[in-house]
Amino acid sequence: MAFKTDIEIAREAKKKPIQEIGAKLGIGPEDLVPYGHDKAKVSAEFIKAQAGKQDGKLILVTAINPTPAGEGKTTTTVGLGDGLNAIGKKAAICIREASLGPCFGMKGGAAGGGYAQVIPMEDMNLHFTGDFHAITSAHNLLSAMIDNHIYWGNDLRIDNRRVVWKRVLDMNDRALRDVVTSLGGVPNGFPRQAGFDITVASEVMAILCLSNDLADLQERLGNIIIGYTRDRAPITCRDIKADGAMTVLLKDAMQPNLVQTLENNPAFVHGGPFANIAHGCNSVVATKTALKLADYVVTEAGFGADLGAEKFMNIKCRKAGLAPSAIVIVATIRAMKMNGGVAKADLGEENVQAVIDGCPNLGRHIENIKSFGVPAVVAINHFHGDTEAEIKACQDYVESLGSEAILCKHWADGSKGTEALATRVAEIADSGMAQFQTLYPDDMPLMQKIETIAKRIYRADEVLADKKIRDQLKQWEEAGFGNLPVCMAKTQYSFSTDPNLRGAPDGHSVPVREVRLSAGAGFVVVVCGEIMTMPGLPRVPSAEQIMLNDEGLIEGLF
Ligand code: ADP
Ligand code: MG
Repeated sequence: MAFKTDIEIAREAKKKPIQEIGAKLGIGPEDLVPYGHDKAKVSAEFIKAQAGKQDGKLILVTAINPTPAGEGKTTTTVGLGDGLNAIGKKAAICIREASLGPCFGMKGGAAGGGYAQVIPMEDMNLHFTGDFHAITSAHNLLSAMIDNHIYWGNDLRIDNRRVVWKRVLDMNDRALRDVVTSLGGVPNGFPRQAGFDITVASEVMAILCLSNDLADLQERLGNIIIGYTRDRAPITCRDIKADGAMTVLLKDAMQPNLVQTLENNPAFVHGGPFANIAHGCNSVVATKTALKLADYVVTEAGFGADLGAEKFMNIKCRKAGLAPSAIVIVATIRAMKMNGGVAKADLGEENVQAVIDGCPNLGRHIENIKSFGVPAVVAINHFHGDTEAEIKACQDYVESLGSEAILCKHWADGSKGTEALATRVAEIADSGMAQFQTLYPDDMPLMQKIETIAKRIYRADEVLADKKIRDQLKQWEEAGFGNLPVCMAKTQYSFSTDPNLRGAPDGHSVPVREVRLSAGAGFVVVVCGEIMTMPGLPRVPSAEQIMLNDEGLIEGLF
């Protein structure tokens, strides 16, 4: 059976002018800052004026551990948003912006898929409204000012070897991971080892996404630690005096972007921090704005629920004072089968037993979500080829845990495919059943926070961290950073730190390789395993297929 590609479906959409989409949420044309005909930023003044209004209900979409079979969190977020609107609710969605680098590598789009997409998808996956360019510029301004400070005499006595602030670029370019800057002699400064990260890994990205307003943004930018002196005293962005100019560069980027779904419903697309060394969800400003304007706001967290949902609640919700009313866990029959031991090439064949064998991964996530006090419902994202017996096996399993799994066909049918899910989610959200609580209090020691997540979410027996790491955490506690939440960076493919360990493992150890302080973003990053902050391109990058056709339209972008 031949399916239309995402870009073909997107191109056929009957887009409405962005002013009509704004009107659905009560945003007047004067409060929209249009970027072309189908994208707009919502003005900071308008956002400020909504402060007194009551908030709508927040609904998080998360998932099982990803497998190469694909899950479809964004697709389901969009589908549920459209489904809620279809049953007469006032709903908006909030998702992340796409990173340019992976678009030309292998990732696939970030705007959903099939008949559950956000448009214009070409723009969303490319330059969009320039937010990532602004973040890149702000980040690199600080880099330039650091080297300039050293060049003009280094009054702050920055240790050349202890500058931790790298440069960034929104491209997958492994050649830039490690570089030496300032080569070429006296006029070019003092050579030092440096490197590039991809823009989404910048702390500026995480800061933009967690800040409440421009004043908060500038305060957090000022707190960034850029390096250390010879006696290890931290030097901040404020010491370099870059925070003001960086805020100026980010002024427009702080305003959330409004676009629409294929069914002309409002979608906020804003910010896109990495889900490993950062928290992996769209901006606080977008989420809070959407909550003021819609009765239901559907949003997504990156990776599986062990990372994405955990950080959404322990970092974003904690810091922004948000609380989800319901959580949707996306699962697919294909992923259940892969968790049950089926190879990707064999996914086409019916295998009920493998579904049953794979379900404990889903079961573990359901249990975990409930431990946050929020009711969970499973959305089975239907793929062509899933059989009735397989679907029933999954539904029976979920029911045996006292939860429910609802079959959703939004990829093929749009909102018609999620009406059942939307009805149930609205019911749960309205019931006030949720008693949201974070997993640990602010004042718990940092090491204990790590252990709490490892034991309660990953079901590990122990955390392995050598003395150097424990001492570092203690030192940060003494310096006043002990109340920060921790941001876990581990593989997304398993509850454990071994990407090949599928299902629902327990009794494993979580080795901590490194800890990093993101003093501006406001969390301590805990690195467990290999973490890549500048991806490379694959042997055959998708960029080779991307081009303009004879009509001037983009081809090859998914
Ligand atoms: P995630 O947000 O979990 O990373 P996405 O929603 O972006 O996943 O989906 C990843 C890819 O899988 C997209 O290209 C999308 O078109 C595809 N996809 C999602 N759901 C389905 C489905 N039910 N059938 C076929 N393809 C799907
Ligand atoms: Mg996604």
